Amino acid sequence: MATAIFFHAHPDDEAIATSGTMMLAARAGHRVVLVTATDGALGDANPGTVPDGSTLAEVRAEELLRAAEVMGIDRVEMLGYGDSGMIGEPSNDHPDCFWQAPVEDAARRLAEILVDENASVLTIYDDHGNYGHPDHIQVHRVGVRAAEIAGTKAVFEATMNRDHLRALADDASLSEIDAGEGADDVESRRAEIRETDMGTPAASITHAIDVMSVIDRKRRTLAEHRSQIDETSFFMALPPEAFSAAFGTEWFIERGAPTAGPPYSTDLFASLEKQ
Ligand SMILES: [Zn+2]
Repeated sequence: MATAIFFHAHPDDEAIATSGTMMLAARAGHRVVLVTATDGALGDANPGTVPDGSTLAEVRAEELLRAAEVMGIDRVEMLGYGDSGMIGEPSNDHPDCFWQAPVEDAARRLAEILVDENASVLTIYDDHGNYGHPDHIQVHRVGVRAAEIAGTKAVFEATMNRDHLRALADDASLSEIDAGEGADDVESRRAEIRETDMGTPAASITHAIDVMSVIDRKRRTLAEHRSQIDETSFFMALPPEAFSAAFGTEWFIERGAPTAGPPYSTDLFASLEKQ
């Protein structure tokens, strides 16, 4: 059995991007460790989710630990960097934010955990952080360097399948969440999805992990992040069929893999056995 470290930017990113893969790895007997870079303090809090006297960062740390419990993983580490906010915001320049952290310094902190855990698998994000958030781009840079320092063999970039995502714009089940919106809004949302630059083209992806056997727990993992995601949010409002279409497969690019594109590999741990 191996140890895998899943490196994420904010509390809740793990739920959306890799929680299914984490649960399947844990179920298979691997040791699963989650490392989150930032405190998520700049997220928009849902009303009533941050009690008087608490900060959003504290609430999000508690939510992360509850999500970890749902996933049944072994260890959670929070590096505690400041949330950098969306690209172009003045918060990008704050000296304590993750975006401003020297890559080498942050990478050494992550590498220490990789070495301590004798981890053979590390997941990070693709080089544009899926959608350009500075903290997600920084996860890529820091993760790549940390794996070099620690000598971690298998590094996977969590991504979204851009072609799959574009096709979802025309998925019939999406129409169920159209209720309450004007037809123009729905059409413009669909047009936006059809042209999205999020994620990575299908031909550059190496791994597709089918997480349908744990999809209900994935939904519950997401729901633990109450300050960010309530029942009315886009994710939770999706009917089960649409939720599965969007989140039933988790996509990765294995760094250094000789080939990409379908048919995809289905196991992050498979290449370790060949080494
Ligand atoms: Zn994030």
